[in-house]
Amino acid sequence: MQFDQRTNREMIQAIANTIIGNADELTELDRAIGDADHGVNLERGFKAVLAKIDMISAQPINAALSEVGKTLILSVGGASGPLYGKLFATIGQHLTNADELTKERVVTACEQAISVIKNLGRSDVGHKTMLDVLVPSLDQLRATNGLSSLRNVRERAHEAAAQTIPMIARRGRASFLGDRSQGHMDPGARSTELIVTAVCDFLETRL
Ligand code: ADP
Ligand code: MG
Repeated sequence: MQFDQRTNREMIQAIANTIIGNADELTELDRAIGDADHGVNLERGFKAVLAKIDMISAQPINAALSEVGKTLILSVGGASGPLYGKLFATIGQHLTNADELTKERVVTACEQAISVIKNLGRSDVGHKTMLDVLVPSLDQLRATNGLSSLRNVRERAHEAAAQTIPMIARRGRASFLGDRSQGHMDPGARSTELIVTAVCDFLETRL
């Protein structure tokens, strides 16, 4: 698919608007097992992205995503600023040959981003974080082809976010609660589900 300036803009806007529209829910999830700022943090970051959407979307998709990442790193702060920032920045950096994106190139770029997040957060699957949605979503993308893969990825992201509810947090503020972190969805898992869903919904209307 061709990522021209208009497509870049609309996809990035779709991600930003989903996060901003669900910021209260994210903050409430973080109130239960963190410090009640996840929605506030990401909303600040994505509003900063929207404020420079003209400059961002004028660039090729790889540079545009890198710029989204940099903007999140600079404006979000906390644990999630660098983690979500690196997610977008690393995907951007590794989307080589952005004029002709293939599923394989997207998968490779996402693999790199997951590896950077694991190193940065010293975290892995099962620690009740954003990775518990990112990793299964990517596994699902790798496993399926064609249009139905978008629906499958979206469903997997949704399921995976719910699967963080019984987990005990091993990283981030929620880990301070130990067993008491059980019974609540991880806020970062939910925001990652929202991002994955926004991208799948957007691409579905374009392919
Ligand atoms: P803070 O914890 O600084 O208040 P946020 O509330 O914005 O930051 O984000 C919390 C989310 O960040 C968590 O729900 C979790 O998904 C993710 N997170 C926190 N620490 C880590 C880590 N070490 N590795 C991966 N993800 C993490
Ligand atoms: Mg927080």
